[in-house]
Amino acid sequence: MMVMGPQNDAVKIAVVGAGIAGLHCAKILKERGFNVTVFDKELEVGGRMKTSEIDGFLIDHGFHVLQTAYPETSKIINYKSLECKPFKSGARVVDTRNGKIRMKLMADPWRNPIRGLLSSLNGFLSFKDLLRIALLRRSIMKGKLEQCFDGNDETTLEFLQKRKLSEDSINRFFLPLFGGIFLESELNTSERLFRFIFRMMAKGKMVLPKNGIGSIPLSIANQIGDDNIRLGVEINRIEDKALRFRGEAHRFDLVIKAFSEPTDGEGKHVWTIHFDAPKSPLRSKHILLNGNLVDSRSIVSHLAVPSDIQPSYAPSGRSLVTATVVGDRAVEMGYLDEEAIEQAVRNDLGDWFGDGTISTWNTLAIQHITHALPITNSNERLTNLPRNGEDAIECGDHMLHGSVEGAILSGRNSALIAINRFENNSEPIQGPKKKV
Ligand SMILES: Cc1cc2nc3c(=O)[nH]c(=O)nc-3n(C[C@H](O)[C@H](O)[C@H](O)COP(=O)(O)OP(=O)(O)OC[C@H]3O[C@@H](n4cnc5c(N)ncnc54)[C@H](O)[C@@H]3O)c2cc1C
Repeated sequence: MMVMGPQNDAVKIAVVGAGIAGLHCAKILKERGFNVTVFDKELEVGGRMKTSEIDGFLIDHGFHVLQTAYPETSKIINYKSLECKPFKSGARVVDTRNGKIRMKLMADPWRNPIRGLLSSLNGFLSFKDLLRIALLRRSIMKGKLEQCFDGNDETTLEFLQKRKLSEDSINRFFLPLFGGIFLESELNTSERLFRFIFRMMAKGKMVLPKNGIGSIPLSIANQIGDDNIRLGVEINRIEDKALRFRGEAHRFDLVIKAFSEPTDGEGKHVWTIHFDAPKSPLRSKHILLNGNLVDSRSIVSHLAVPSDIQPSYAPSGRSLVTATVVGDRAVEMGYLDEEAIEQAVRNDLGDWFGDGTISTWNTLAIQHITHALPITNSNERLTNLPRNGEDAIECGDHMLHGSVEGAILSGRNSALIAINRFENNSEPIQGPKKKV
């Protein structure tokens, strides 16, 4: 619990955006005693972290997990009270070459040395690859977390190639996994973000909360309280000390912007298709990666069965199957609308599990999420310190990197700047104003 600053309750602060960044920022300010109001144009909090209920299934907006190793996130999110449960570490990789369907295990050799070694014997990865991944892991896990953001800033693909990982291991493992995380199919994302996410995955677990990913921002909103959150209010103009909405100007002592300006086009985009299946097609609690993305017209990056991890995601006796298609891959293959995407996804899944099985699956939702993540390509000198706004104080994952951790760190940074502005009259610069 923070100590309240003198007369902070007389200071009116508006936070525009009830995504996880704005909510975390508002929560810190409220705990500090400020008079905070959060605004959002949507009717629910959460921004990009939302869950809807359809026919008794919990449908997250896009396949979304939480990494328990995120340092700042784990300080503020109580995984236990959200009843989070983990996917198994490692992954399964589907390989349909030569007309045979194989689902091979890519085990993490540190958590499960015997299975890890077996991964090198099942024909999926060579022993050399396994050794190189071991060296990669050792170097990424060494030193302080900030070091992930030091040094070279080439693309993820160049980074992996420089470490002499075989083309096969890159195309069949890293591409479907990290393409599906970065939401781009060229692995152009900065190697710095790759090192950070790889370290998080190696260190912690990938979990789902019992009530869906939307329960995470909701748990913060509950601490802020309904009286301090105004939903369904689109802000038309933001100034340092005023907001304009519904045709009127409203004065505040400070306004914090917690969203990014919409850009042209679709940005990084992703298609997610959710199916209602009579039973899970997977035999283990892994995610399934598409090992044939590069050598076929196949488009699904990865598939997960959230109800295998959290039975609450599906009604009793049913399974929720979620397939992810990275937007640029869909465009490259010429699949541009819901109908074409659904057909292409059903073709892929038919190859993997049999057309007869797939014909029993009902489509619950087809989501196309545009501007899903900020672009964090190489040579942007990405750091682990959030940028500040140029004029207004600004937070959101676009001020750091596209992840829950990035959004939360950024929200905290903005709150600290605001606190300092009113309590010390001097503004600490937590991160560089511009990328360095
Ligand atoms: C499909 C998908 C999968 C993801 N998977 C993962 C994952 O597995 N792990 C991970 O760490 N991260 C993941 N992320 C990233 C993570 O969800 C985001 O980094 C994070 O949610 C961003 O939060 P934010 O608060 O910065 O922005 P947002 O959530 O976008 O919040 C901004 C809010 O501002 C509101 N707003 C905008 N304009 C106005 C206006 N004019 N007036 C009022 N309100 C306004 C919006 O409605 C929105 O609620 C994923 C993202 C997506 C889309």
